[in-house]
Amino acid sequence: MTYDKNNIFAKILRNEIPCNIVDQNANALAFNDISPRAPIHILIIPKKEYQNFNEFISLATKDEIIDFYELINKIIKKNKLYESGYRIIANNGSNANQEVKHLHYHLLAGKNLGLMIN
Ligand code: AMP
Repeated sequence: MTYDKNNIFAKILRNEIPCNIVDQNANALAFNDISPRAPIHILIIPKKEYQNFNEFISLATKDEIIDFYELINKIIKKNKLYESGYRIIANNGSNANQEVKHLHYHLLAGKNLGLMIN
């Protein structure tokens, strides 16, 4: 399946719709989830067009991959989440119920997050 340039995160990256930016670097953007499931619910996305984890890890440059994970780590450090704990999730494909077909990691924290799968 080809990348859908009209997915909601592609529109955010083109500044066609607003988002609440948390942080960014040359290759990755972090913004608050519009429907937060925890006190901290941040989405981290690569700035280039990757639908899912497999595409990203197969096709992205090392700089893109490093920038992506460094942005996540920067947010974790800034919020001191390594002390209280946090969860990172990436839904990929139909069995994971991925809604938006642009790779995104959910960073969830700020309360006990319960079991991973209910
Ligand atoms: P997933 O089910 O893993 O694809 O998650 C998609 C996430 O994107 C959900 O948690 C939504 O709440 C979130 N979302 C959808 N539209 C927006 C938006 N415009 N701004 C921020 N988050 C959004």
